Amino acid sequence: MSQFDQTAEQDALRRSVRSFFTRFDREYVRECDRTPRPPVEAFTAMGDLGWLGINCPEQYGGGGGSATDVAVLLEELGAGFLDLALWVFRVLSHGVHALDGYGTEEQKQRFLPDIAAGRLSVCFALTEPEAGSDAAALTTTARRSGDGWEISGQKVFCSGFKVSDYVMVATRTSKGDRKQAGITTFFVPTTTPGLEARPLEMLGHRPLGTTLLTFDGAHVPDDLRIGPVDGGWAILTKMLEYERLCLSAARTGAAQSVLDDTLDYVKQRKQFGQPIGNFQAVAHKLADMAVLVEVARTQVYRYAHRLDAGTADTRDAAILKLVAGEAYKKVADLGVQAMGGYGYSMEYDAQRHFRDSRLGTIGGGSSEIQRNIIARTLGLRPS
Ligand SMILES: Cc1cc2nc3c(=O)[nH]c(=O)nc-3n(C[C@H](O)[C@H](O)[C@H](O)COP(=O)(O)OP(=O)(O)OC[C@H]3O[C@@H](n4cnc5c(N)ncnc54)[C@H](O)[C@@H]3O)c2cc1C
Repeated sequence: MSQFDQTAEQDALRRSVRSFFTRFDREYVRECDRTPRPPVEAFTAMGDLGWLGINCPEQYGGGGGSATDVAVLLEELGAGFLDLALWVFRVLSHGVHALDGYGTEEQKQRFLPDIAAGRLSVCFALTEPEAGSDAAALTTTARRSGDGWEISGQKVFCSGFKVSDYVMVATRTSKGDRKQAGITTFFVPTTTPGLEARPLEMLGHRPLGTTLLTFDGAHVPDDLRIGPVDGGWAILTKMLEYERLCLSAARTGAAQSVLDDTLDYVKQRKQFGQPIGNFQAVAHKLADMAVLVEVARTQVYRYAHRLDAGTADTRDAAILKLVAGEAYKKVADLGVQAMGGYGYSMEYDAQRHFRDSRLGTIGGGSSEIQRNIIARTLGLRPS
């Protein structure tokens, strides 16, 4: 078996996810995007199928799956419905992965079975109005108060808040010489008094929505602190690396679906008496799209195997995020061009990918930030 071959179980999972989208079909996806509204029915159905606990240890009700299993699931979900895949990613990453890696035994028993069954959903709030790419400069504070903490400050661009029961929040608990020191993470109930959410109008990823969160002395008990006081940056770094696998797998699936749709289109659309796919300028676009998808997929499974082997590092994660984010953006752009006016029409899916794919090179660490990380491993010091 080569490094990237998949097991019979992973092949079966791939087939199951594909057949799931015969039930939650394209019309369902379009309706969720157009309305916009979250795909609650599909999410609930996935809980019943056990997919929401795929990476959760069996003792807490999960499937005990590997990073490669997660990549297979998210790649196929991304091919069917990217926003659904990203909802699942948040649950697997900021829910299961964070708690399993950094939660106490009491926290694991309390939350993991519900997360794995789809009864509890989680989102993530790191970015602030004044701390985006420079995330460690965050200023939302958590101060000790009674049996817990009071959180004050603002978080921007929090995705999926309206469908979440808890939001994982990164806060500043002390000021040291290094901005990375003094950061602590909490699992905050989304209904906490003193926490308000305001929806933001965004270009894409409309079904789950994006919000501005304002914390005004929101009280959180100490048993909802994840990891050590002032030790949050190490947790966030590891979580973001896992996030890069999840996002890249989902976007690779989405890019594959753009390629498939565009290929169908250029084979049937005729101009000048022949299918437009016969024109070299169009055929080369499809060839470029196929290469981009293939390279992204190779990076996804290379990184997943390295995570499973315990050999993945920050550089691997940065290369993956850069390659897969840029690939989806380029493939979506080429898809619109190859379809002409129909690619630009709201009647087709190409425009949705065009909008959604723009986030791939911005969110979760922009392409520029990934290049900075890679450049540092070459001995350079980009500021
Ligand atoms: C739809 C959407 C959903 C999101 N969901 C979430 C979420 O759920 N949770 C969350 O915490 N955040 C979320 N984000 C935030 C996202 O991760 C940030 O937008 C991203 O990290 C960039 O930060 P910024 O927007 O403040 O841009 P800035 O940091 O202001 O960057 C602006 C530009 O400057 C460039 N730049 C900045 N610093 C450097 C540098 N040192 N070198 C080179 N170039 C640089 C950037 O690459 C970018 O091109 C979301 C964002 C969007 C748009």
